[in-house]
Amino acid sequence: MLFAPDTEEALEFVVALANTDAGATRSGTDELATVDQLRELLARCTYSGRIDNDEAELQAVREARAQLRAVWTLDRDRAVEAVNRMLREARALPYLTRHDGSDWHIHATDPDKPLAERMRVEAALALIDVIRMNETGRQRVCEADDCTGLFIDLSRNGSKRFCSVRCGNRMNMNAFRARRAAV
Ligand SMILES: [Zn+2]
Ligand SMILES: [Zn+2]
Repeated sequence: MLFAPDTEEALEFVVALANTDAGATRSGTDELATVDQLRELLARCTYSGRIDNDEAELQAVREARAQLRAVWTLDRDRAVEAVNRMLREARALPYLTRHDGSDWHIHATDPDKPLAERMRVEAALALIDVIRMNETGRQRVCEADDCTGLFIDLSRNGSKRFCSVRCGNRMNMNAFRARRAAV
């Protein structure tokens, strides 16, 4: 295992959030356009604490998505600035907690703080680990030319190139067709 389980889980959530972007979804549409879609996203992970289920929360989470997508591709030193800023703005205060059957893990905001703020802080805590271990190179953007998908490469040799099997297969097929056309 590369990172602590809660860190990997938080990174996977950032990816799931980021990949609701229209350029990364299977449907080709923005899959974080409605409160219902936000609820669907949250159902796929283990978000505890305050959830308002309203339009204001949706807009705030959409802003957090844009912000985290941008942070994902920063170089290490710029990522440090972004992470520190997110923690400072949320007045984050780390503490260990255990809830919903989980093991001890870090939170740094109150459960009644707005969802988007908790998402940013949780992401920032995970990015701290990635930065400290000098593994920011594992935060990738899908190499498929028509995809804006992000992914975290947790493979041993760090050689993953695509956000999904779907993108890998599509690009392999394109390469195959291109080779055949060239013959
Ligand atoms: Zn938790
Ligand atoms: Zn992709």
